[in-house]
Amino acid sequence: MPREIGRVLLVGAGPGSADLLTIRALRAIEGADALLYDALVSDEVLALAPRACTCIQTGKRAAGASMAQETINALMLRLAAKGLTVVRLKGGDPSVFGRSGEEVDFLSARGVPVEVVPGVTAASAAAAQFSFPLTHRGAARRLVFATARADGGPLVEDGWASGADPQATLALYMGRDSIAAVFERLIAAGRAPSTPALAVENAGRPEARLLRGTLASLPALLAAMAPGGPVVLIVGEVAARARSAEVVGAGSVEPARIAV
Ligand code: SAH
Repeated sequence: MPREIGRVLLVGAGPGSADLLTIRALRAIEGADALLYDALVSDEVLALAPRACTCIQTGKRAAGASMAQETINALMLRLAAKGLTVVRLKGGDPSVFGRSGEEVDFLSARGVPVEVVPGVTAASAAAAQFSFPLTHRGAARRLVFATARADGGPLVEDGWASGADPQATLALYMGRDSIAAVFERLIAAGRAPSTPALAVENAGRPEARLLRGTLASLPALLAAMAPGGPVVLIVGEVAARARSAEVVGAGSVEPARIAV
């Protein structure tokens, strides 16, 4: 008799601190037979996997070689076909630059039950930690999630007009190394150079760093800081409201350092 097929859960690991996992995500991790995790998943979250669980890293930070998407897909399929509960653990929210669409399509087309468990995305973690809103009545009516690069490749050339809208907050992912080029494009598209802008490194983690500037000044400040961790960029009036964790007293989060 054929073995009963397992299932795959695409789980958001959030920004790093384990207490920012959803309870559903925690239960999924605790119930995993096999766990495939990407580069941004923290050790603190991985430590929650059962001892007997097979943990496989699928992504390397920055320049390191990551597993090809086809290999990851094939691996998930093979493990699920053995009847295992497979957890595909991704930093932040799987639905935000997390390839959840491709993986859901691939697995569903092959009859593998698949479920998505949301997570706290980097922009939300940054906003919470430094006490600024992503939307604000009268000042930020729209929220644009954008990536600076497509598939780690060249800069995205089109679509910057949506980030140049003075009523929009732009949350820019994968923008650390191309901030100067992106901000130039936003200014060229009409956003004022004086628009407040933030860079948040390691958002949602105790070692988070906040850098404050404007569209004109932030690229040089970020270059001088030379962050090694993941950075989310926030552009818009809401950025002027950012406060350090020391000022707002962010619960269990350690006082985060402010760089400027
Ligand atoms: N699914 C993730 C995004 C993956 S794309 C999410 O929802 O957060 C990878 C990019 O996300 C990084 O280049 C960086 O821009 C951003 N990022 C992820 N985790 C971050 C963190 N803890 N702090 C700051 N930026 C982060």
